[in-house]
Amino acid sequence: KKEEIKAKVTIIGSGPGGYVAAIKLAQLGADVVVVEKDKIGGTCLNRGCIPTKALVRSAEVYRNILEADNYGCFAENYGIDINKVVSRKDRIVSELGEGISYLLQKNNVKFITGNGEIINENQVFVKDKFKETTINTEYIIIATGSAVASLPIPGIESKNVFNSTSIMEINELPKELVVIGGGVIGMEFAFIFNSFGTKVWVVEYMDRVLPGLDEDISNEIMNIAENRGIKIYTGSKVEQILEDEKGKCIVNFSKNNESKHISTDKVLVSIGRQPYIEGLNVEKANIELNENRKSIRVNEEMRTNIPNIYAIGDVTGNIQLAHVASTQGIVAAMNIMGEKSIMDYTVVPSAIFTDPEIACVGIDEATALKHNLEIEVGKFPFASNGKALTLGSTEGFVKIIIDKTTRKVIGASIIGPNATDLINEISISIANGLTVDQITKTIHPHPTTSESVFEAALAANNCCIHN
Ligand code: FAD
Repeated sequence: KKEEIKAKVTIIGSGPGGYVAAIKLAQLGADVVVVEKDKIGGTCLNRGCIPTKALVRSAEVYRNILEADNYGCFAENYGIDINKVVSRKDRIVSELGEGISYLLQKNNVKFITGNGEIINENQVFVKDKFKETTINTEYIIIATGSAVASLPIPGIESKNVFNSTSIMEINELPKELVVIGGGVIGMEFAFIFNSFGTKVWVVEYMDRVLPGLDEDISNEIMNIAENRGIKIYTGSKVEQILEDEKGKCIVNFSKNNESKHISTDKVLVSIGRQPYIEGLNVEKANIELNENRKSIRVNEEMRTNIPNIYAIGDVTGNIQLAHVASTQGIVAAMNIMGEKSIMDYTVVPSAIFTDPEIACVGIDEATALKHNLEIEVGKFPFASNGKALTLGSTEGFVKIIIDKTTRKVIGASIIGPNATDLINEISISIANGLTVDQITKTIHPHPTTSESVFEAALAANNCCIHN
């Protein structure tokens, strides 16, 4: 069946970039079509943020059971049914998927399934099994996201080697797991499986895990991981994965020119994600790519070199976070509808769901020093926070960076209980140019982990009360 339709804006991809842009555009009065070749919600909903956090929660519940004794509770006959863990995750994903469908419908956004291909700057061709649709459109937003990256490691195609998508569908808990790559995704899975009782190793090429973050954070999470029994090898390059006669994987790697190997049940490769432009026809449509030839080049309005074609989210090769994709989607939508908007990356919080959580925003200490900024650093350990003690989660700290002259808050790194929620106070402070004194003048409720942010702000003035 063939059909031809018209739209003001056609969005290719329904992840947090695409669907949020669609709703915003519809709210501003545009008629919008979203094209999706897989499931509504993109990576974030189907194989990223949400399913991993469902697993994080199951892992946390199980760890709480194992540690019940510490809280004066006891449990008998406990265990994990990984199939039920996976179906709980699937239920959450499908409920949220229905939620997005409902929101698109409510905003009169048309949703078409199939691969979207850009024919020219005013036409998108969509093909699925049953139908071919040509969309005549004034504007196009490319929101096609990213896909797992792979490495040419011999043996990587073995059935016991997983990526972040396939590991979430396992029907048996691995006894042992080697995680190749100690980035955000790798570390989240390392903690999930460690809590489930799997023996976990992390092999990281750089000299620390989470290498993009404040060094104190990397060191703290490495210590916590090691205390939980996660063995971390940094500065290590995986060379090959072999399978022995019993079906076990042997991961060979080199560290300081020394050859090492780990024998393991399963392997998870999580070495990053790359922008996804396959089947989109960007080159024929003359859409410029960045130097790495993989991501789509955009300006600060999220516009490509073709004036009526925008790109947002992971495909732009920028920061790969769902909330960045959504914000870029709103920026693109506003520009299309004639309300000039510019993407500002000064305040982009990142949230990492290890156990304990990690969150960062703004500048970190090393970067500030590299730029010769005069700074004060305030640090407060959760071990001195009453609420953290009652939670049984005293590892970690809050670290706030302020500009010495203006006293404005310019960054923070938090590792500890509720870190991913606590970071918001700092984001709001940076976004609004608040000084550290404005934080310390604000009454923080007791007993809460937010008092650690308050105390770190006091520490930046050398007048911490509880430490
Ligand atoms: P995507 O979500 O990737 O969506 C793109 C969509 O486009 C896909 O559905 C795809 O099928 C579709 N598509 C592609 N090409 C075409 C085509 N030609 N035609 C039609 N459709 C097409 N981020 C966070 O902020 N917090 C987290 O906790 C977090 N956890 C993560 C955990 C994991 C395991 C992973 C993998 C990622 C995680 N992320 C997290 C990153 C986050 O998922 C991405 O940054 C986000 O999904 C990017 O959104 P997007 O809209 O750019 O693209």
